[in-house]
Amino acid sequence: MRPRIAVIGSGPAGLTFARVLHRQGHPVTVLERDSARDARPAGGTLDLQEGLGQRALEKAGVLAEFQALSRPEGQAMRILDTDGTVLRDWRPRPDERANPEIDRGQLRDLLLGSLEVRWGRGVTEVVPGGRDGVLVRFADGRQETFDLVVGADGAWSRVRPAVSPATPRYTGVTLVETSLDDVDTRHPDLARLVGDGSVAVYGVNRAIVAQRNSGGHVKVYAQYRTPLDPHTSPDRPTGPYQSAGQGTDDVKAVRSRVLALFDGWAAPVLDLFRHGTVFAHRPLHVLPESHTWPHVPGVTLLGDAAHLMPPLGAGANLAMLEGAELAESVAAATGPEELDEAVRAFEEQMWARAGRWAKITMAGLERLVSPDPSRALAVFDEVQPS
Ligand SMILES: Cc1cc2nc3c(=O)[nH]c(=O)nc-3n(C[C@H](O)[C@H](O)[C@H](O)COP(=O)(O)OP(=O)(O)OC[C@H]3O[C@@H](n4cnc5c(N)ncnc54)[C@H](O)[C@@H]3O)c2cc1C
Repeated sequence: MRPRIAVIGSGPAGLTFARVLHRQGHPVTVLERDSARDARPAGGTLDLQEGLGQRALEKAGVLAEFQALSRPEGQAMRILDTDGTVLRDWRPRPDERANPEIDRGQLRDLLLGSLEVRWGRGVTEVVPGGRDGVLVRFADGRQETFDLVVGADGAWSRVRPAVSPATPRYTGVTLVETSLDDVDTRHPDLARLVGDGSVAVYGVNRAIVAQRNSGGHVKVYAQYRTPLDPHTSPDRPTGPYQSAGQGTDDVKAVRSRVLALFDGWAAPVLDLFRHGTVFAHRPLHVLPESHTWPHVPGVTLLGDAAHLMPPLGAGANLAMLEGAELAESVAAATGPEELDEAVRAFEEQMWARAGRWAKITMAGLERLVSPDPSRALAVFDEVQPS
């Protein structure tokens, strides 16, 4: 008998897991809280690294489609001083494929393919150790049992409490996100400023970063050190990636409050933010850098649910590779004991790799949003080709 496997969440982790299992001919149930594929905006662009996210896409059999859709030119990066002076202007070589960008919505559709997702199935609780397997309870009162439940339900995971008491803590840095549409037609000067990839400006304890997505869409992030805003609900189980509607209804007030934090910065840089029409707060939270748990048969975690870290280009990459690796191990297991052993071995591997990235990204955040902006520049000088 094939084990009954459920994955909770259809983000990069859950979809990659399901897609790889599906490819191996293994049935898997995908349970997602959102009511439909397009129930909310998918979010900004992701850069997928060669040895991580791209490896996962290869295992999922969709690397060629990714290469056709992704934007290698999106690897371009420009850094400005707060007065608008260009400090660095990196452009990728035409054949550079280390970190191409892809819109989250495009990635989701690529991974979804013909997968079946049970939409509108918000999980409230997971209870391991039952005679008939692991019990999953849903917000609508229903419940179901499985042999293996994989929690890929993001930062505010409802599966996590079944294995670990850890909860995310606030880093001291908040992002306020806005966006511009049809930038090449409506704001050609800003389109030139952003270029094909990203533009970033670092000041004292704050930064503005703008990233081009496909179709002339630009996401703009103001980042600053601040105590946790009491008007937002960081522990709401929506996760920090919900793109709209988080507590920032009064658009004008939010815009002027954030712009006041960047007083004196060059006008074109501030225009990136000033022209935004919808704002979302994203207070950045993290799980402990070395988050592990005593193995619980029948339940495990992937991605942000297991190792939430600052958004510095690793989270989705790790989530996807973990999804692919766990799926391969699970598919190869021939009985309940082997399945449990495979999950246990996977967890050890995930913890070691995620722990390293958690340290790197946390140190990165400390340098990028710091009292000394030259530390931010140094981060890029270390990773970009000269
Ligand atoms: C601004 C920003 C930029 C980023 N840029 C990058 C980047 O360039 N590269 C990179 O690698 N990473 C990046 N990240 C990090 C990346 O977005 C996350 O690490 C990644 O999305 C984690 O994937 P996941 O599948 O684990 O979780 P999520 O993407 O959060 O997906 C979780 C899914 O579970 C569902 N869900 C939640 N709760 C429940 C429930 N109770 N029941 C059922 N379903 C539920 C959610 O609706 C969602 O579909 C960025 C993050 C931010 C905020």
